[in-house]
Amino acid sequence: MSSYQRFAGHAPLPKIATEYDLIVCGAGPAGVSAALSAARQGIKTLLIEGQGCLGGIWTSGLLSLVLDTTGKAGLLGELQEQLKAEDGWLPRQRSSRFIYDVEVMKWILEKMCLEAGIDILYHTRLVDAVHQDGWVQAVVTESAGGRQAFAAKLFVDATGNGDLAARCGCQYEMGHPVSGEIQPATLLAIVSGLPPEEQGTMGAKDKERFRSLLRSVGCDPSYCGPSLFRLPHPGLFTMMINHEYRVHCDNAAEITKATINARQELNTAVRALRRIPGWENMRLVITADHIGLREGRGIRGRYYLTADDLKAGSRFEDGICVARFSVDIHQLDENTPHGQDAFKAKPYHIPYRALVAAEFDNLGMAGRCISGDFFAHASYRVTGNAVPMGEAIGIAAAAAKESAKGFAGVDGRQVAEEMQRRGYEI
Ligand SMILES: Cc1cc2nc3c(=O)[nH]c(=O)nc-3n(C[C@H](O)[C@H](O)[C@H](O)COP(=O)(O)OP(=O)(O)OC[C@H]3O[C@@H](n4cnc5c(N)ncnc54)[C@H](O)[C@@H]3O)c2cc1C
Repeated sequence: MSSYQRFAGHAPLPKIATEYDLIVCGAGPAGVSAALSAARQGIKTLLIEGQGCLGGIWTSGLLSLVLDTTGKAGLLGELQEQLKAEDGWLPRQRSSRFIYDVEVMKWILEKMCLEAGIDILYHTRLVDAVHQDGWVQAVVTESAGGRQAFAAKLFVDATGNGDLAARCGCQYEMGHPVSGEIQPATLLAIVSGLPPEEQGTMGAKDKERFRSLLRSVGCDPSYCGPSLFRLPHPGLFTMMINHEYRVHCDNAAEITKATINARQELNTAVRALRRIPGWENMRLVITADHIGLREGRGIRGRYYLTADDLKAGSRFEDGICVARFSVDIHQLDENTPHGQDAFKAKPYHIPYRALVAAEFDNLGMAGRCISGDFFAHASYRVTGNAVPMGEAIGIAAAAAKESAKGFAGVDGRQVAEEMQRRGYEI
């Protein structure tokens, strides 16, 4: 029985609103990139987003720092050029990362998507999927207009948490293979009024200095590497000081509790820091619209990227980009140290097959929810990789649209060649 029929038992079937070539669920770094890359090839694309802006963790999450950009041109390069042109870009101390202005990011992503002819739906959540025999037929959404269904030939799950694939019944995993614990969640915030000489935290030594400062006023941050990133705006910094443990992407009660705890910690810390001479004017400007979940579901794909691949620096014929970011395992609970079980990774390929769902030919993935183990995810999850993942699955959409086998019928080597042509190191 398809989920369409199951749903029909409870309520009238939502009418199929419009037919698309491609529907991308989730408009974070991965989803926007997938939609842009597809639409620019003439693919009729719908981009569905639960929040009221594009960018996901980049914008409603207030991230402000893009990591693992080395050897990546394509959309990631174009985005940097646009940010620079609008005075919304700052280099970090290393060439593999950059800082951006969150509001400029929101604005240029909207401009780029509208220019590409993408239909955008904000405040719209994917809540169900209609599927049969390994083929996704439609997604069911909820918004102010009630329930709606949208059909397409192809779908991309870029929800970060693998919501669409989970609604389709795809196999997935979450958490450390032994303990089952997941990477902690963090609520990001923007602060102002710091002393003029404060430069932010550039590395481990600076983070330790900031931690000591917090401790000196009786505030022991739940994240042992508290950070401050100087923003392009005069006098503003992003602050990252909290960890919330065991926050699962499929549990609203856990997410709510973590958000309230984290906001409490941020307010308490700012008030405590104001007692330090020179910090009296510090203010909490804003906390993010949603708490950042480092880890959600990892959906099983046609290739499963593992710790062994990272140790070996595996290269594949269908490699769509080279990932270089470290295996970044934050504390998994109150007692384990930061970085436990981490190891040195060699630069490795993300293969196209890790972006295609194992059980559904026309379902692609991009971003945090692609196919890989706990350790591989701890590296590839950063947004310098989410962009090429989205760009690659968007490239594949042109060929997949004509194939009876959807994304599964696309030769990943051709996607890799196109990525190289667009300036990605392969
Ligand atoms: C606290 C924290 C700090 C981090 N630090 C860095 C860093 O410094 N630099 C870096 O590059 N990376 C960093 N990362 C990692 C990186 O931000 C994520 O892995 C990244 O967001 C992956 O992009 P994405 O597009 O897959 O997911 P997201 O950015 O999470 O985007 C997913 C989008 O889908 C939407 N969505 C989800 N479910 C639904 C649904 N059911 N219906 C409709 N829409 C939905 C969400 O609203 C969101 O906009 C950090 C992550 C966290 C949590």
